[in-house]
Amino acid sequence: MSDKTMTDGSPVTADHREIDPKTGMQKGYVVLSDEERAKGFVRPVRRKYLHITCRVVTTMTQTIAETYARDPAFYDGTYCADCLDHFRVGADGEFVWDGTDERVGT
Ligand SMILES: [Zn+2]
Repeated sequence: MSDKTMTDGSPVTADHREIDPKTGMQKGYVVLSDEERAKGFVRPVRRKYLHITCRVVTTMTQTIAETYARDPAFYDGTYCADCLDHFRVGADGEFVWDGTDERVGT
């Protein structure tokens, strides 16, 4: 059994990275499976993050938030609901958890 699924727990699809031109969002997002996330979190589960560039807060899906909490380095980038695009996360990325100075993806 795979340790990755789509956000709703369904199997990972080949075309999930296709971008919807209206929203700039991917067709779907991969997360760690329920079983993998149940092994425990190494960070708090946080759903709101600030894009430093535009100062707008975006809220992520619970299963994505739990994937970050289980494995902070799982994703290369995340979506900004104001810019309608994805940008880098990590120590030199463009996002912090809302209300903190802590970079998303660290
Ligand atoms: Zn933005």
